[in-house]
Amino acid sequence: MAEELADPEVVDRPRPGAGTARGRVGANGHRSNGAGRPSNGAGPAPRAASTRVLVLNASYEPINVCTVRRAAVLVLKARAEMLEKGDGALHSERLDLDRPCVIRLVRYVRIPRDVHRRKITRKAVLARDAYTCQYCGREAAGLTVDHVIPRSKGGRSVWENIVASCAPCNRKKGNRLPREAAMHPANSPRAPGPTVFIRIAAPRVPHAWEPYLLAA
Ligand SMILES: [Zn+2]
Repeated sequence: MAEELADPEVVDRPRPGAGTARGRVGANGHRSNGAGRPSNGAGPAPRAASTRVLVLNASYEPINVCTVRRAAVLVLKARAEMLEKGDGALHSERLDLDRPCVIRLVRYVRIPRDVHRRKITRKAVLARDAYTCQYCGREAAGLTVDHVIPRSKGGRSVWENIVASCAPCNRKKGNRLPREAAMHPANSPRAPGPTVFIRIAAPRVPHAWEPYLLAA
């Protein structure tokens, strides 16, 4: 389970009702043959807004985003508690469940450090740096990413060496070292925590998530 939750790929999979044939929903030992799935709203529920659930570790640290269905399974199996409810409810033949919005794992899951060393993308670098050029502090449109130590001088493509930079700063710095150009990043770059990835996975973060993300 830990691995599944920690898998970054779990984050972005808005497929309500997918995988219902596995029959794993049955709470309390009911055999369910997959028929006990929470119906994700046959009605016109505002699905897009609420298909994702924020998952907190037992320590309240946000660790991931999962589907409503996955969250419902965790709650029904008493592996997670529901901290925030969304609108509406999930129905199956046997039970009704409030629609989860934020859940917290009952048991602490150790997240290997490496999990958060996810692959670098421009999007993630910009989100980590709050969409602000690390050299001049401008919140520019069309930010680029810059190797602090240029690749031509042995700089690697790692979190610690890549920052958000506006195009003019990037050009100005060119192939020089920070001290040669007298341009130093405002924050020393490092691998971002899970919150950055959660924000990327859910571009419109539901209000109910905010307090939990702020605390992180
Ligand atoms: Zn700049």
